[in-house]
Amino acid sequence: MAEFRRRYSDRSDSKSRIRISRLAFLLAALLIAVTSVSLVFVGFVASHASTQQAIANEERLFRNALQERLRDIVREQRTVTVSDETVRKLVRTFDPVYARQHFHALWSRYRHNKVILISGNNQVLAESFQDYTHITKRPSSETPALAPVIRKTQALFAANRVRVPGGFGHRSLQGLDTDQYALMGVIRLDGKPALFSAMPIMPDEYTATLPDGGPTLMISVKYIDDTLLERLNSQLNFARLRFEPKAFEPEDGPSHLVTSEEGVDVGSFRWESQTVIDSIWPTVIPVIAMLSLTLGALAFGIAWRIGQLTRSLQKSEEQNRYLALHDNLSGLANRLQFNRVLETSTADLPNKRFAVLHCDLDKFKAVNDTYGHAAGDTVIKIMAKRLNEVVGKPGLVCRIGGDEFMVIYRGGTSRKDLDTLCRALINKALLPIQIEGGNTAHVGLSIGVAVAPADGTEPEDLVARSDAALYRAKDRGRGVHAFYEDLLKDTFIQEDDASANTGLSSLSA
Ligand code: GH3
Ligand code: MG
Repeated sequence: MAEFRRRYSDRSDSKSRIRISRLAFLLAALLIAVTSVSLVFVGFVASHASTQQAIANEERLFRNALQERLRDIVREQRTVTVSDETVRKLVRTFDPVYARQHFHALWSRYRHNKVILISGNNQVLAESFQDYTHITKRPSSETPALAPVIRKTQALFAANRVRVPGGFGHRSLQGLDTDQYALMGVIRLDGKPALFSAMPIMPDEYTATLPDGGPTLMISVKYIDDTLLERLNSQLNFARLRFEPKAFEPEDGPSHLVTSEEGVDVGSFRWESQTVIDSIWPTVIPVIAMLSLTLGALAFGIAWRIGQLTRSLQKSEEQNRYLALHDNLSGLANRLQFNRVLETSTADLPNKRFAVLHCDLDKFKAVNDTYGHAAGDTVIKIMAKRLNEVVGKPGLVCRIGGDEFMVIYRGGTSRKDLDTLCRALINKALLPIQIEGGNTAHVGLSIGVAVAPADGTEPEDLVARSDAALYRAKDRGRGVHAFYEDLLKDTFIQEDDASANTGLSSLSA
């Protein structure tokens, strides 16, 4: 009978609800994982973009610093080149003593490693190497790297030359940007990379004028060495600023490529970017962690609530199912459950035999009438308990209404077994029942028995036949049981007197 009960307490719904709850937790975990990965991805993209931006900024700062350094060289050079005296001593005539003195000054004061003076007809007139000045007269074409520098500086002069009384002069430098009158840049000279400034020699007070023809030029050179790098880096404070004689790709880190006037790569300034260390990750990771935790707490909270609601829904459904299938006074199976179990029992025929016992209390109405309805209820409850105890595991006891009980019994279904069972039920029912107010009620029990499949294989037939047998038992004086099969024979024999005295009675043959 336990297997019948299992069929009606279907657990598949609760299993699917547990699955819903697990799914909610799984989805929550998935949500957190996806969010965290997305945040890391966004962080990575943002970090990459900000690193690129920071490197671009560093490169811009470096370009400005380099430009500033080149302007410094021009300013230093101007202490010699823009002077009426220099026009007189180096352009109009050539005074080696003056040349030596001033070239030396450019070295000792400003560390111009090399200074070259080129005449209007492209002759190198003087050339210094640090503190030594060599007076010479050789064509500038012997040093090919100088050619574009000379050409471009001559062009600048041509643009700025003005006619003045007694010769030529130069437009006022006050209205000009540095690169309008001086050529600045990077050059490879004597096999070394260097910064240079080149400009024409010009008068400042116009007590002297320039002759017609090409300008006399001065080129100042500062090698890119540790001293220069240190000076360049004095405000930048870049880590490991250095110069390497080749070009680099952007992936290699920050760098600034410099080219000569002919457009040939001279090399690159390089440094270690601060951004790699000061990346945004120390900020982004705690934000990601906090967001993930908040989201996780929220998602798990929702999942937990779903689980809680699912559990309470499950509980209330279990309650509803119990109420739908049980009699709420006696706690026994009700008519609905009886019908279902009977249906499944007949479906198993003819393999699994069973009996249907239709039981009705005798003279029950008298209890109600004498002691009240509540006393009647007590009798029903106690009777339900007694019937259940006697029937035990192989049967299902149901209350189908009023003082009527149905038993589906799958223990022994032989005549002898059923006689024993019915007598035990009737005897137990006969025991006095204590009710409210210190009173004792006495009721009896009549039983009609139909056996499947012998008396029928359809639920309705078995109910009708057990009912007919009950009717016969009542008819024969109550407190007895009757078999449907005997109704057909229409022969009912009273039990012997001894049986009747102990209440053990039967209408069986
Ligand atoms: P019989 O021996 O012929 O079976 O007669 P009886 O007195 O047992 O009366 P019967 O079976 O014809 O009727 C049962 C009565 O049970 C009718 C009704 O007043 C009463 N009854 C039905 N349901 C309940 C209930 O839930 N509680 C109580 N206390 N009485 C009920
Ligand atoms: Mg009755």
